[in-house]
Amino acid sequence: MDKDVSPDGKDTPPVAKGGKAAPEATSMIDTLHLSRKRVRKLLDPYRIESGKGFRLSDHDPRDTAGAVLGKPDASTLLGEGVRVLADYQQRLYAQDRWAMLCVFQAMDAAGKDGTIKHVMSGVNPQGVQVTSFKQPGPEELAHDFLWRANRALPPRGHIGIFNRSHYEEVLVVRVHPELLERQHLPPELTRKHVWRDRLESIAALETYLARQGTVILKFFLNVSKEEQRRRFLARLEEQDKHWKFSPNDLAERAFWDRYQAAYEEAIAATATPEAPWFVVPADNKWFTRLVVVAAMIEALSRLDLTLPPLTPAQAGALAAARAALESEH
Ligand code: ATP
Ligand code: MG
Repeated sequence: MDKDVSPDGKDTPPVAKGGKAAPEATSMIDTLHLSRKRVRKLLDPYRIESGKGFRLSDHDPRDTAGAVLGKPDASTLLGEGVRVLADYQQRLYAQDRWAMLCVFQAMDAAGKDGTIKHVMSGVNPQGVQVTSFKQPGPEELAHDFLWRANRALPPRGHIGIFNRSHYEEVLVVRVHPELLERQHLPPELTRKHVWRDRLESIAALETYLARQGTVILKFFLNVSKEEQRRRFLARLEEQDKHWKFSPNDLAERAFWDRYQAAYEEAIAATATPEAPWFVVPADNKWFTRLVVVAAMIEALSRLDLTLPPLTPAQAGALAAARAALESEH
């Protein structure tokens, strides 16, 4: 990707005189039909920044913020949101200071894949890395539990998407403790407080990353058990959806309540202002996607993504390069 092409596609970089934030850089979110205030109002009920009093049962998977927007409005907004996100991503890349990590966690059929696909559909693939975390292999099992997440972190200027994540280590591994045994840990380290310790380690890692310039957003796509049943049935009934169904999905569904309890505890223990969770209603896909894209652009809009002004030496080098190219004719 060209680092000196501005997000609007013109060949002037987004630098304001004197290195101040260019007005368009900070007000991009305001070009949406949703004003910044409305975006905040939309996101507020879903953003969790502290575990105090957090209860998953307070969050309705069917919620669509009826009073704030309607569905027809939403598809226009999603399109606009995707475009604004692409602009921000280009600035993020050109500036090369911040990174963004978006973690997606959910029960099966909650819509992780579709959300990631739609929300990222406008961005330059070179600036984004999507990592899907499956069951760990022997090399991964031979290392500490955060090892593979660390290796997949986005570098500065990039957006990293985790499709499942290090959180599986306090979710599926907690629901199925036999998975912990496969990790060859010294037994005296797994007898007591293992989940509390892991949650602390995750929170500490995320604080560290935030201090290093990674903006972290964590999305729990909150689908209801009934909607999961409907989606599984659709996968079984429609031939082109068969590939999406695995009998193991049904086995995991049987552990629904234990997963919900593990999610509740994980979210409560790791929700911080610098690495918030978004409990996103997931029974309506259009709404899930809208909340996710809104959360991403809202977080990016808080950053000053202008490029630093050129130093006199850099300006001189550009002028010399231009003169050299022009003198070729
Ligand atoms: P989809 O079904 O839409 O393709 P998925 O994320 O469910 O997406 P699968 O290949 O079906 O992908 O499942 C991956 C499995 O790997 C999940 O059951 C998940 O719980 C499991 N997994 C991920 N990380 C770990 C881990 N650290 N330890 C054990 N199991 C894990
Ligand atoms: Mg699956």
